[in-house]
Amino acid sequence: MSQQSSTFTAKSNVKAADREHRRKINFNISRYNAVVPQGKQQFTDIHGAREKAKNIKWAAIETLDKQLELFEKNMKQRGAKVLWAETADEALAEVLKICKEKNCSVVVKSKSMATEELHLNKFLEQNGIESVETDLGEYIQQLDDEPPYHIVTPAMHKSKEDVAQLFAEKLGTPPDLTPTELTLVAREKLREKYRQAQVGITGANFIIADIGGLAITENEGNGRLTCAYPKTHIVIVGIEKVIPSMTDLALFWPLLSTFGTGQKITVYNSILTGPRQGSEVDGPEEMYVILLDNGRTNILADVKARESLYCIRCGACLNACPVYKNVGGHTYGTTYSGPIGAVITPHLKGVNNWKHLSFASSLCGNCTEVCPVKINLHELLLDNRAEAVTHKGASFSERMAWRFWQAAMLKRGLMNIGSGRLKGWMVNTFMKDWKKNRSGLQFPQKSFNQMWSESTEKNL
Ligand code: SF4
Repeated sequence: MSQQSSTFTAKSNVKAADREHRRKINFNISRYNAVVPQGKQQFTDIHGAREKAKNIKWAAIETLDKQLELFEKNMKQRGAKVLWAETADEALAEVLKICKEKNCSVVVKSKSMATEELHLNKFLEQNGIESVETDLGEYIQQLDDEPPYHIVTPAMHKSKEDVAQLFAEKLGTPPDLTPTELTLVAREKLREKYRQAQVGITGANFIIADIGGLAITENEGNGRLTCAYPKTHIVIVGIEKVIPSMTDLALFWPLLSTFGTGQKITVYNSILTGPRQGSEVDGPEEMYVILLDNGRTNILADVKARESLYCIRCGACLNACPVYKNVGGHTYGTTYSGPIGAVITPHLKGVNNWKHLSFASSLCGNCTEVCPVKINLHELLLDNRAEAVTHKGASFSERMAWRFWQAAMLKRGLMNIGSGRLKGWMVNTFMKDWKKNRSGLQFPQKSFNQMWSESTEKNL
């Protein structure tokens, strides 16, 4: 068992028994569940919209190289510099080089999972650069020295009382501030950081190939301020975020906002096509776009897993997942948690250390049901499991046990051998590992065939 797997099991046991954690998560997810159905009403054919979105992403990912080259050509024409980073280290080196060139001591950042993947804040700090999160949820998490708990709502596990207490400890504010007062405190602190920052760093929700643009979606206005206020803007974005045309946003913007937060449309949607142009009055003097691979081409090379690159990071599958709701986001120990995290992490970071995440699922299919781009998440989890076993990731005894199980399941005669008690004893005795975190199986005393014949005889 890998270190990551043992840590996951140990943390899961603690979190699953933590009722206060469950109360907060259920409360926050219930608010989400109350508004999403309302947002969905804006679509006259929600299934058709999801199907169309999936087809657009399919076309984009199948022609990824061409789409990215087109984006690069168009983006460069308006004066932005486009850099390609194959690994996290390459991306970090580019960021540091730019920051040094600009004599940067303070960076303002808006919410971005790609930068979480790079552990960018810690890296900049180690290099003497202060990096400040400007999204309120991310700011709260940074104050608490914690990574985001959820890909859309980073502080989802905290109540308003927790946040007031945190601000009191870290910023010396009174411990009973209301959410409005807390927001005003954060706003005041962040305004000062904007004034000091030489560089703004953001992610992007979509790379738009046909116009050479980047679309950024956010609710607080901090994202567009981060793009436009500092003299230099750096965008770090995963290569899978591409969509072929600007007109596709007419579908993807409402899908992202409805499935992400229940809104019809997110408050601020910006399209960036380069640094400030001659006639424009605001915007950065220089703009860099770092196109991040960091394992994504491993997923692209796998014909089945490739579908997971359609993800628009709405977070709906996390909110729908019974495992996520019990063990929480930090237990996964990865940047991407929940069903989508369980699907992509073994491909991004290695099957042997991360295959356990594919087993952290009830396979109820709820994640697939709620995904706006119809990614077959539960099927992909099964594929990951199969791959883990094929790559000899499973122990000899586990492989033998499942082989025996498979043989029995394929032959009714074998299935019917022995009483329910004997079957129960065998399974519960020989599959101890499987049973460690589950209650023992209890087989019915009669086989299905026996029950079927009895009911048929009765009905004759
Ligand atoms: S897999 Fe689907 S539901 Fe989950 S975050 Fe991505 S787009 Fe949203």
